[in-house]
Amino acid sequence: MSTDLLRPPRTTRRPPAVSRPTALVDVGALRANTCAVVRATRTPVMAVVKADGYGHGALALARAALAGGASALGVTSIAEAVLLRHAGIDVPVLSWLNSPAADFGDALRARVDVAVPSPGHLRAVVDAARRTGTTATIHLHADIGMSRDGAEEETWGRLCAEAGAAEAAGDVVVRGLMGHLGCADRAGRPTATADLDRFERATRVARSAGLSPTVRHLGGTDAALHDPRARLDMCRVGAGLVGIAPVGVPVGPAATLRPALTLLAPVVGVREAAAGRRVGYGDAHVLARATRLALLPVGYADGIPRITTGRASVLLHGHRCPVVGLVSMDQVVVDVGALPVAAGDVAVVLGPGDDGEPTARDWAGWARTIEHEIVTGIGPRVERHHVEEDH
Ligand SMILES: *Cc1c(COP(=O)(O)O)cnc(C)c1O
Repeated sequence: MSTDLLRPPRTTRRPPAVSRPTALVDVGALRANTCAVVRATRTPVMAVVKADGYGHGALALARAALAGGASALGVTSIAEAVLLRHAGIDVPVLSWLNSPAADFGDALRARVDVAVPSPGHLRAVVDAARRTGTTATIHLHADIGMSRDGAEEETWGRLCAEAGAAEAAGDVVVRGLMGHLGCADRAGRPTATADLDRFERATRVARSAGLSPTVRHLGGTDAALHDPRARLDMCRVGAGLVGIAPVGVPVGPAATLRPALTLLAPVVGVREAAAGRRVGYGDAHVLARATRLALLPVGYADGIPRITTGRASVLLHGHRCPVVGLVSMDQVVVDVGALPVAAGDVAVVLGPGDDGEPTARDWAGWARTIEHEIVTGIGPRVERHHVEEDH
């Protein structure tokens, strides 16, 4: 039994009643976080709503971010972009990370801007523009150091020249240049400076090819909040909007950025268990003393990382109760000691931390990962409810 169970409760507030695993998404927090990022960067913000809005719901995040001052939206796939259009969202939407075989026609018909990282992609976009009788709005994507997406320095000149020809032919308009900073977590890091230099060189090459992009953009939350040099004409921000702060920036109830997601799970059953009993698969956990065990219907299929076994806890009756035994696919067992927990009570699995519940940052620490992986990992069986709270 954990020592927390012997202390006074961290809160006497009861979580909302739910009958199945539920993620409450605090729309007010999404909006307030966007406002905070816009204020801090004094730069137009593209809200990145990929991966279903970092697990918070793409549409909900998009709408809240636009209400909070974002002026454009970013996603990886064309399908995610088209979904935003079908929901009636009318601001500029940029999609990156598409295969050259992607249906760029779908993007153009939905007035979705596309990132172009290679001459092959450019040819596919030009074909789609001709087929659909439209002009494609594109952002040329340069690799400035991550060796991931974007054109390498050796092909950048050719990409710019071919984009210039396509622009002259009326098939595309080169609206933007993009790169991505992979080491932006501290201002003035030498790697960030080298990457910024590479982006400046790429810009000069583009201009000398006759291109005149009006929106240059470089990085995500870390770059936007830590390094003013990386802001340029627009910041592409996702994590910060859902309350994931860069290293060194506080996050939580009293901080500027507030985690927006609370994961709740109802107690399915409670049992007494004698000392020496095994809990869960294998013999990973044997009870040292008699206690009471509560069963929660969330497991690794719902985004509870199995690697957290032996470290994780959840909030029940205002106390942190340890998760005991291996995390199963659909369930976890929690040691509730002498707490009067009953079936139907609700556990707070993670949240902003207001009442002492674990945060996504805590889960990330237990899982040796980052908060992004925790919130985007919450599975499709978990129902999302969007709620409006004042901040
Ligand atoms: C995801 C992503 C972003 C947003 O990054 P955050 O750190 O979540 O703000 C920006 N740019 C690109 C290319 C991305 O893939």
